[in-house]
Amino acid sequence: MKYLYVANWKMNMSFEKSITFCAQNYNRLISLSATADIVICPSFIALKSIIEIFKNSIIAIGAQNCSQYAIGPYTGEIAAQSLKEIGVAYCIVGHSERRIHYGETSEVIAKKVVLLCENNIQPIICIGETEMECNQQKIFTVLTQQIEQCIKIIHNMPCCANRVIIAYEPVWSIGTGIILKQEQLEKIFTWLAELLYAQLPNYSIQLLYGGSVSSINVSQLKTIRQIDGFLVGGASLNFESFSKIITQ
Ligand code: PEP
Repeated sequence: MKYLYVANWKMNMSFEKSITFCAQNYNRLISLSATADIVICPSFIALKSIIEIFKNSIIAIGAQNCSQYAIGPYTGEIAAQSLKEIGVAYCIVGHSERRIHYGETSEVIAKKVVLLCENNIQPIICIGETEMECNQQKIFTVLTQQIEQCIKIIHNMPCCANRVIIAYEPVWSIGTGIILKQEQLEKIFTWLAELLYAQLPNYSIQLLYGGSVSSINVSQLKTIRQIDGFLVGGASLNFESFSKIITQ
């Protein structure tokens, strides 16, 4: 299986910069997609234009969020159905920045997963503990709480060709340059893989690592057997660094 690389641009690229990035690096991204699955997640406003740019390629486009509601009076929200209509293939949910800054609970995230599955958009479900939770040895409790409702939902409804993508992102690794020790990561990914294979036996499961992934640390991360890909924030804003992560 090819590694899956998800570029999460957050709110770091303006509309114009996003389009320029895709247009300028189009050929090189297409070459990279021969050996890697690539998903680009720009801001909402750039989705449609970027889908148009990559329409004849296997590069997929993802949203960074969606509403927990299907339709209705929710000013400023974007429905999963609208994302589907413009050709969005993936959607990040449960990112720690949404959990922390917008108070999104695991219940809210589970509602989003339902709507995404109904619209055949592949959710990329993010989970991760804070530094304090790590120091208090609560990693497995926190991750279980963050993921259990999503597992139940996915178990009970057909979801995206039976494919599940979970991104483990320790909150204190995001944008900090700090990476957990290799043994800790191996332990967490082994636990996560066993849990998901046991609870979702009919699904193909892809586990991503996210948090300060760079061209310097990615080779080491790739030695962890259960890691199927990477959610990349800061390093995906620059083509050279993103491409080095893919080709390492
Ligand atoms: C992220 O926010 O999902 C992320 C992984 O960011 P960074 O790569 O910048 O740590």
